[in-house]
Amino acid sequence: YRVQVVPVWAENRRLLGAAMVIDDVTEVRRLEQMRTEFVANVSHELRTPLTSIKGFVETLLDGALENPVISRRFLTIIDEEAQRLQRLIEDLLHLSRIESYGDIVQGEAPVEAEAIQVKNLLEPIAADKNITLHVAIEKDLPSVPLSKDNLKQVLVNLVENAIKYTPKGGQVWFSIRLVDVDVLIEVRDTGIGIPEESLPRIFERFYRVDKARSREMGGTGLGLAIVKHIVEKSGGQVRVNSKIGEGTTFVVSLPVVKETELPVK
Ligand code: ADP
Repeated sequence: YRVQVVPVWAENRRLLGAAMVIDDVTEVRRLEQMRTEFVANVSHELRTPLTSIKGFVETLLDGALENPVISRRFLTIIDEEAQRLQRLIEDLLHLSRIESYGDIVQGEAPVEAEAIQVKNLLEPIAADKNITLHVAIEKDLPSVPLSKDNLKQVLVNLVENAIKYTPKGGQVWFSIRLVDVDVLIEVRDTGIGIPEESLPRIFERFYRVDKARSREMGGTGLGLAIVKHIVEKSGGQVRVNSKIGEGTTFVVSLPVVKETELPVK
């Protein structure tokens, strides 16, 4: 708390008394600390691939360029690291865009059409790992109050994670259905699971259970933070349930756009 005492004077300059102002600064401090941590994290995440790119370029310029086999190998790494930087910057921009939206209802996304696109996009990636992707999307789902892009991002991030964190030969279920006044999106996998103590933290920016593993899979550590922001800005909720070595389930509930809220066409 911050406490200030100020004298209160009457018009004839006589001291009337004192006023005490008590501010709760814990929230302000917490936000400040979060911001400092975020900037430190971003700098670190940007610096790592850049250092690697610089190192390989210098080695190439120092003579490795003469050897075509080594050159190709180094250039592949440089390309991967550059892609990583690009993903990171895209995710960061996306996150800041969502945050600056305020509480505006951002659109009315057709759930079924977006879900089918996501299925088509990720099925080959699952197939590459011999993972069976079970998809069950209810017919005639109502729209939800967010933009198509944001809905797609939520679905892609969750299903992509399920595939990423499930070993070869596993299973992923992706289902969407209407329950009362909410559209329920469920993504379940038979993957590595998340330790109980990490569950409250996985939606934080840059938090990963296993940094090396996430990095190897091309993760930025921002996927779930983006999901949570989008969902909560749209008046929805995201929950997670997980058991180490058995699998993980994410459930997103999104409120349905009511007919009466739709703009008159
Ligand atoms: P990343 O880019 O590292 O995947 P995310 O924000 O998408 O970042 O997820 C944060 C962390 O949560 C991941 O690094 C991983 O440790 C954990 N995680 C997310 N989804 C799953 C899942 N389906 N199974 C196991 N762990 C998961």
